[in-house]
Amino acid sequence: MTDFVVIGGGIAGVSAAAHLAPNGSVTLLETERTLAFHTTGRSAAMYVANYGGKGTRPLAAASKAFLDGPPDGSADASLLSTRGLLWVATRERTRLLEEKAAGTGSTLVDASEVIRLVPRMRSDWVAGGLYEPNALDIDVAGLHQAFVRIARRYDAELRLSTPVTGLVRRKDGWRVSTPGGHVDCRAVVNASGAWGDVVAGLAGIGPIGLRPLRRTAFMVPGDSAFSAWPFVVDVEERFYFRPDGAQLLCSLAEETPSFPTDPRPEMADIALAIDRINEATTLGIRTVNSQWTGLRTFAPDREMVIGEEESAPGFFWLVGQGGTGIQTSPGAGALIAALVTGTAPPPYLGAAGVDAGRYTPARFR
Ligand SMILES: Cc1cc2nc3c(=O)[nH]c(=O)nc-3n(C[C@H](O)[C@H](O)[C@H](O)COP(=O)(O)OP(=O)(O)OC[C@H]3O[C@@H](n4cnc5c(N)ncnc54)[C@H](O)[C@@H]3O)c2cc1C
Repeated sequence: MTDFVVIGGGIAGVSAAAHLAPNGSVTLLETERTLAFHTTGRSAAMYVANYGGKGTRPLAAASKAFLDGPPDGSADASLLSTRGLLWVATRERTRLLEEKAAGTGSTLVDASEVIRLVPRMRSDWVAGGLYEPNALDIDVAGLHQAFVRIARRYDAELRLSTPVTGLVRRKDGWRVSTPGGHVDCRAVVNASGAWGDVVAGLAGIGPIGLRPLRRTAFMVPGDSAFSAWPFVVDVEERFYFRPDGAQLLCSLAEETPSFPTDPRPEMADIALAIDRINEATTLGIRTVNSQWTGLRTFAPDREMVIGEEESAPGFFWLVGQGGTGIQTSPGAGALIAALVTGTAPPPYLGAAGVDAGRYTPARFR
């Protein structure tokens, strides 16, 4: 008998494992042969305080201290580095920049400032921008590894190639079945990303209505002269690009519904993104070095789902991370650990404005 079973070894699952492990025995079960194989390994690796739903933002704020200074040598260095974020717009869309600016502390800038920050923007395309200098790059692999290190330090067991195939409620907890046998536990954390509703279905629990949405990213040749550019996003999220080492990471920023799966890029999405970026810039992109697609999974209200299923005591959801699951993971991990162990959330969550009631699965019941 283990105290807690965590299903899924993406950023959500390892963050839950790291925060639960000091409170009891943890077994994490992951279908794939490697951790972070799905969405977590496919992100754009940004921390943007003003991005995502209203409930997301306090979780991102609560995560900042961990990202700035990962505890107890769990990472070799800070996981954050300076980047900046620049929303850009054509003349017809500058009004959208103003709407986006409201209450964020970001700065509206004119076309000449956009071109100073990103000299390859076309002066006949861009009419203005919204600059958020505090947006940061996240070392996603380092963050994931930090959670794994903390979990292992407290003897958590991380089992790869171990899909959960059944969940049965027992008098004192849950029996979690896998092809190699079962694990009995007091509580289960469902951190299975795009498969969240599928995993709940194994326990006979009704779906939240999670929607996995495709988003494709690809690398094109860059230049060391681009390295100080901010992350550049069209105000309507029709494309984005950012420096990534010697390359540029680009995306159509599409949200195409999908089944839970290992999605493959569509060449048409990449071609459209290149058209749009070439229209807005003088980059003249012609070559693609590599490409991938991930599933950003949203609840119907696009807020995260963190909490116990009322009809199934001991079954906890940690899903609906959408496009902000990396930057919110330390805060979300701390919150789920408090809910699972029935303890008060740490004061820094409340100080950041995190209200546990906002994330409850009961809002869909
Ligand atoms: C292109 C792109 C850009 C993004 N950019 C950012 C960004 O800049 N900043 C940010 O914060 N977020 C970003 N995101 C979002 C972020 O990547 C996700 O929110 C986050 O990775 C979700 O993590 P997860 O652990 O919930 O899901 P996943 O990483 O998908 O992990 C779920 C795991 O559960 C496992 N699993 C499923 N079913 C079972 C089962 N039955 N048994 C055992 N294991 C199971 C899966 O194999 C998988 O490994 C981006 C995403 C994409 C695609």
